[in-house]
Amino acid sequence: MELKSLGTRSGFTLIKSEFITEINSETYLMTHNKSGAKLLYIKNDDDNKVFSISFKTPPKDSTGTPHILEHSVLCGSRKFPVKEPFVELAKGSLNTFLNAMTFSDKTMYPIASKNQKDFRNLMDVYLDAVFFPDIYRYKEILMQEGWHYDIENKESDISIKGVVYNEMKGAFSSAESVLMSKSQEVLFPDNPYGFESGGDPKVIPELTYDNFIDFHKKYYHPSNSFIFLYGDLNIEDTLDFIDKEYLSTFDAIRVDSEINEQAPFNKMAEEKAYYPISNNEKEQDKTYLSLNFVVSRITDSEKYLAFDILENMLLQTEAAPLKNALIDANIGKDVFGYFNNEIFQNVLSIIVKNSNESDKEKFKDIVFNTLKELVDKGIDKKLIESSINSKEFTLREAEARRYPKGLLYNIKVLDSVLFSGDPTIHLTYEKDLAKDKSSSTHQIF
Ligand SMILES: [Zn+2]
Repeated sequence: MELKSLGTRSGFTLIKSEFITEINSETYLMTHNKSGAKLLYIKNDDDNKVFSISFKTPPKDSTGTPHILEHSVLCGSRKFPVKEPFVELAKGSLNTFLNAMTFSDKTMYPIASKNQKDFRNLMDVYLDAVFFPDIYRYKEILMQEGWHYDIENKESDISIKGVVYNEMKGAFSSAESVLMSKSQEVLFPDNPYGFESGGDPKVIPELTYDNFIDFHKKYYHPSNSFIFLYGDLNIEDTLDFIDKEYLSTFDAIRVDSEINEQAPFNKMAEEKAYYPISNNEKEQDKTYLSLNFVVSRITDSEKYLAFDILENMLLQTEAAPLKNALIDANIGKDVFGYFNNEIFQNVLSIIVKNSNESDKEKFKDIVFNTLKELVDKGIDKKLIESSINSKEFTLREAEARRYPKGLLYNIKVLDSVLFSGDPTIHLTYEKDLAKDKSSSTHQIF
């Protein structure tokens, strides 16, 4: 079908369509008239089809509601009242990807399959799960997936158990997870990014059934959703199905899931956090030192790409000048960087591992002095080129490794569309890449 002549069909109206050279695909952005859902279809001949539905789910505390809900909606629904449809699905399906993911600000339910029938079936299970989950009928789902009191026998102590509770207890025993969570908490004291969307085990038991249900009611509505379709599929039929079986039952509402921008600090904030080590371990050389900078907005495609390249150049490669300066100073055994471009305000982090608290000032001095020196003297041109080239390669090959290509595009689309940006700005990378290449010749960094 020629989608351009879609007009209003299956309850959807086409808003915009464009061909994207970088991914050799035609894209169609639509809204569903009655429910207010948004949908993007990326049309090409890739038989590894992708479907996902995502909701913007900013947490208002660290009880882990978004994460517990992600687990819970997959514990049975109206059409699929089995206890673990997710497990059942995985067994019989020909899927190439099947998962659900909680991010700091959104929850995503993606599937991929090369088989048309399987694809439809998985889509049905996921749509039914998110819109009509059994959590309204069975309180036990929250207890099982979230938290509950547990006692072995009447002599033993009462303890807390729960799938997510246990999962996050595990996560919080890792130094790197504690560091990531704490860094975000310190950087964003005034917006949802300051909370742990996965759930802080200390806070999870504060979650009540009412708050849990309210969260679903508020955010799991088509008006707050984004549906993604990708690959070689019968789009006409797919849109009909989504409309008839699901979206047409809902009326559009206004959902407030806006995330306010965090105002910059007057001076650098400093925090200390702790992670557990065993009794026979020494504290020496167990410290992580980390500097974190809010650098840009997620909808600024130029910086989104440039900081990714810059982070690789400064902290990842063999010749990375900032990494080498920190290694040479002998303040830790390993140095790494991380550019988080999955949240509204992107963050660049510099981390030294196996260090000591006494090296804190030295760490800061080296970072700022090295960066100043690089600004004054410039960065080796070969290094800049090689970092740009390696990023270019990743972009062109859509280096999927174990992930379907469509899923990687899907995540990039969410990075802009959930913040009212054009859904395809991070897919049309060519112009930003060209800018980076030309500015590397006169070293803007
Ligand atoms: Zn989980």
